[in-house]
Amino acid sequence: MPHPSERSPINLVGYYQNIEDNFPVVCFTDGSKINSKVGLAFVVFQEHIETEVHQFRIRDECSVFQAELLCIAQAVNWIRTNENLSSNFLICSDSLSSLYALNCFTSPNRLIVKIQSNLNFLQGRGVQVFFSFVRGHIGIYGNERADWHAKEATKLIDFIPMTIPKSFYKSVFKKHVISQWNNLYQISHNAKSTKEFFPSIHGRLKAIHFVPNFRITQFLTGHGNFKAYLKRFNLSRTDLCSCSSGEIQDVNHLILSCSKFTPARCLLISTLKKNNFAWPPSFSTLVQNKTCFSSFCEFIDSIFPHII
Ligand SMILES: [Zn+2]
Repeated sequence: MPHPSERSPINLVGYYQNIEDNFPVVCFTDGSKINSKVGLAFVVFQEHIETEVHQFRIRDECSVFQAELLCIAQAVNWIRTNENLSSNFLICSDSLSSLYALNCFTSPNRLIVKIQSNLNFLQGRGVQVFFSFVRGHIGIYGNERADWHAKEATKLIDFIPMTIPKSFYKSVFKKHVISQWNNLYQISHNAKSTKEFFPSIHGRLKAIHFVPNFRITQFLTGHGNFKAYLKRFNLSRTDLCSCSSGEIQDVNHLILSCSKFTPARCLLISTLKKNNFAWPPSFSTLVQNKTCFSSFCEFIDSIFPHII
């Protein structure tokens, strides 16, 4: 690692229209990931004329952030080999995270260290490199060109070496663990009732609005203050509902048909219909759709004190 005195924050300037007039050489950099392939490109403009394009491809496992940062590194490297062109260069990037990362001179990231060392070297030679953030996809010509070339670079055959980021391994392990978890859930003979609400672990993880509580948990597991369940432990003489329908009082009966709760159920049915869900619904709809879940919670809260 270079001594901290050999690293300094980047010269960041705000982008404005015709900023290119003040810099004889301007590089636009961009990184792109399409169809799981990662490409990067920087385009050089001299006196407003596109003079050079440099394209690279890195391994599919790499992130867009790496591509953006590597692209800036390649542009700085290009400047180092062409410093006779000018004493003032401007690098424009639409990656705010890369520019922020470059401002951190304690970062151990090898690319950042390399860029900062090169910038320090150039500064020693009297060459100033300025950076500017440009918003992507708002029609800035240089940025659009870099974007197009970066996308095209994903078709290159050769890769340039790049370490695979930790985030890639994390996502692979996470997918694997969730898949294993789901397999265990599917083959288990338990949780029959819960599986009606959440047929898969993936669905449960997607339902970020779902927060279990004392009442909801009883409905999801079927283990609750219901006669069908209480009778199993001799805590009730009968498993029949007190609504005189002659039906067993279980989760199905309480949600779908118990006549004691018709008014509360009407509100739930109305919410489902407004959201284009038919009645009777699949129980997964009641928890996986945010609006239906909220209405389902209200239904349970209103009927719960009166179940037995
Ligand atoms: Zn009933």
